[in-house]
Amino acid sequence: MPSVFRFAPSPNGYLHLGHAYSALLNFDSARAVGGKFLLRIEDIDAARCSVEFESAIYEDLAWLGLSWETPARRQSEHLAGYREAVERLSAQGLVYPAFESRAEIAILVAEREAAGAWPRDPDGTPLYPGTARALTAEERQRLTDRGAPYALRLDMAAARARVGELFWIEQAEGPGGETGQIVARPETWGDVILARKETPTSYHLSVVIDDALQGVTDVVRGHDLFHATSVHRLLQQLLGLPQPSYRHHRLLLDDRGQKLSKSTDASGLRELRAAGATPADIRRLVGLP
Ligand code: GLU
Repeated sequence: MPSVFRFAPSPNGYLHLGHAYSALLNFDSARAVGGKFLLRIEDIDAARCSVEFESAIYEDLAWLGLSWETPARRQSEHLAGYREAVERLSAQGLVYPAFESRAEIAILVAEREAAGAWPRDPDGTPLYPGTARALTAEERQRLTDRGAPYALRLDMAAARARVGELFWIEQAEGPGGETGQIVARPETWGDVILARKETPTSYHLSVVIDDALQGVTDVVRGHDLFHATSVHRLLQQLLGLPQPSYRHHRLLLDDRGQKLSKSTDASGLRELRAAGATPADIRRLVGLP
């Protein structure tokens, strides 16, 4: 079976050196084993993504010397498929509608924090208190009849009870990275959102569906997504999808030791190109041969 790698940026800003590193690492890895390199546009967040940024991604990657199978998969064109996956989980009794706004959730969390420690997810966000899980069927009906918008959340405890111990195979990079068989702990994320109020999917759901649909065998992405893999493994198991192997790579840092962000202009590929940098310079800057 040929290896399949993918680079999956969100078109909500211009690419920087961190993206270049990730894209080149995937491309080089695919080349090294005679595998495929795919580009996927993760544009489910219509409010933040734009076709202008998407075009810039194609242009910057081509300039770097990358080529990929075309057309690239655009997540916004496959919402029906994600909806169907949520329905499958729903049919297993693992999904419930949550009507609270962000502000309401913040109040619910603050109340719990005032009463003692309240858990946070691996990214540092307080867990959703699960309040909507306790609504009765009548209360849910009343709210939906009223047209109240809702997100669909995974009942994590129920989902967790459905599957046994979960692992993934990590080929971490460099010293200090955890390698080998990693125990997945999806429960540390609480009742994650599967479908947002404004779109019938979420990052976790669409990434898992797409990796399976596209036959991705090797997920190579930044270390900031290491812990998200726990949720991905759970969803793969619940949906009967194959598991790829994972390699979470180091993140590039700026002069102040902060993770590069789309607003750090000095590391932007467009800025560097305008200043005369060549693709070979970019490779050198990110530490690739
Ligand atoms: N779209 C995600 C991002 O831009 C990456 C998703 C992934 O590689 O799993 O951070």
